[in-house]
Amino acid sequence: MASMTLVPLIPFLCVMAIGYRYFAQALETSTLSAMERIVADHRRMIDSFLSERRADLEFITRAYRFEQVSRPEVLSELFDNLQRASHAYVDLGIFDTNGVHVAYIGPYSLTGKVYKETEWFREAERRGYYISDVFLGYRNIPHFVVAVCRNSPRGQWMIRATIDSLLFNDLVKEVRLGKTGEAYVINSEGVLQTNRRSGGDLMQTLDDPVERPETQDQIRTFLAKDARSESYLYATALLKGGEWMLVARQEQSDAFSALYSAAYLILFISGIGGVVVVVIAQFMTGRIVRHMERTDAEKDRLRYQLIGAARLVELGEMAAGFAHEVNNPLQIIRNEQSLMEMNLAELPLPETGNEEGPLAEIHDSLAQIRLQIDRCAEITQAILKFGRQQEPRIREIDLGGVISETAAMVANKIHIHGIVYTEEIDPTAPPVASDPAQLQQVFLNLFNNAVDAVIERHGSSGGKLRVEVYAGKNGTADVRVEDNGTGIAPENMEKIFSPFFTTKPVGKGSGLGLSVCYGIVDNLGGTMAVESRQGEGTAFLLRFPGAGSPDKAEK
Ligand code: ADP
Repeated sequence: MASMTLVPLIPFLCVMAIGYRYFAQALETSTLSAMERIVADHRRMIDSFLSERRADLEFITRAYRFEQVSRPEVLSELFDNLQRASHAYVDLGIFDTNGVHVAYIGPYSLTGKVYKETEWFREAERRGYYISDVFLGYRNIPHFVVAVCRNSPRGQWMIRATIDSLLFNDLVKEVRLGKTGEAYVINSEGVLQTNRRSGGDLMQTLDDPVERPETQDQIRTFLAKDARSESYLYATALLKGGEWMLVARQEQSDAFSALYSAAYLILFISGIGGVVVVVIAQFMTGRIVRHMERTDAEKDRLRYQLIGAARLVELGEMAAGFAHEVNNPLQIIRNEQSLMEMNLAELPLPETGNEEGPLAEIHDSLAQIRLQIDRCAEITQAILKFGRQQEPRIREIDLGGVISETAAMVANKIHIHGIVYTEEIDPTAPPVASDPAQLQQVFLNLFNNAVDAVIERHGSSGGKLRVEVYAGKNGTADVRVEDNGTGIAPENMEKIFSPFFTTKPVGKGSGLGLSVCYGIVDNLGGTMAVESRQGEGTAFLLRFPGAGSPDKAEK
């Protein structure tokens, strides 16, 4: 049971596990590359948005002088043109070298304010341009600025544009990955530069453990738990020269949902497969065990039959010994009887001459004794002849004679059970070359079987046994032994010639009779066949090659 379960189960589970592993690998790779592609695309979009804004302002600083752009009408026209190119611009301002806001176009009144000490002003002075983080500033609304500094022979001046945070937000807002995928931008302190769909407003500081890519071009992917201890698949890329970071993330269960479904399916299939294997193994084991039990029972039956057969052989030997022992006293009795007859014959006859007197009765008794002694002698001779084991002596035998002799051996049994025995011998049937003892054994067995079948069906009257000997085609001598007994069941027809097959009760049949007959007939070059109808009777057909004919009988 264990080996029948394990042998198919182990390879089955291995195949499932290997299949799952490769599927998991493929899915993981495709999920990560989808994420990386989204991050790379949005990084390109944001970078080009920022550099376009910077390029717009740099163009103005190169095309106009400070005096020109400080004039409100010029600045207003420039602002209109910029807004036509992008709606992200909220306002536009010009600053002199002291950080004084000399000209301003926009929704607030910021003209005249001094920005010398602000961070963005100082950074722009230092680097030549500056893109700030999102901040509140004087107006108290989240925004960020792009500033470009121009060094002219008359001194340094600066142009600054405010970018609408909401519009910038739209660049990442649209990112959709599964059910929970999202993207957002943070600065190096983890402060949100855009909104985050799953919670997190502009300028809020996040404390998610986000891993930073090492180079500008790298996109980093990793699994991590966020501040709410939920597992996410992250992809990060650097923006704005490393000051900002674009983060895309998706809940792990969402990102790998196909993998989890496949895992459940594989578990389910493995479970069903395992159950099927166990059930089949149990069924097969049951069958094998039952078969083995049947074989064991058959073996036991054969052993008992063999013992019975051996006992029969011993019984035969004992019978032969017994016949031999009885034969001697019989001879002595016979001699004595002969002596008595002789002495009686010499006695003078009484004068009365009465032939029906006591003397005549003694004569009759002696004759009866002689008759019975002869019968006993015949029986013992037959037993001796049958039981004698000797080298087969082949000679030409007249089948009719052997059959009559054998029938005489069972005559008593036939008579007692009221069986009508008929014999039809064709004198033209050729003699058969065989050992007479063997042929006798064949017919004795056929007669015994027939008598048994007839008794079983009819009891002690109505039975018939008919033997016919006739000349067959091709010079064969054919015998038909027919009875009107029980007949043979169709399913047993194939088996009756097998050794040890018997339908008789234990102790009665050995199942060897027909197999021995078959062997003897076959050995003589003859054939043996059976015709039977259950409930009607049976006929055995034997065909022997005629003595002197070189051919074997047609089989
Ligand atoms: P046994 O007589 O010891 O059973 P046999 O080999 O002589 O062994 O016969 C095998 C079986 O063939 C018998 O048990 C019986 O069922 C069947 N059989 C043989 N001869 C006859 C017959 N004349 N009529 C019915 N059945 C027969």
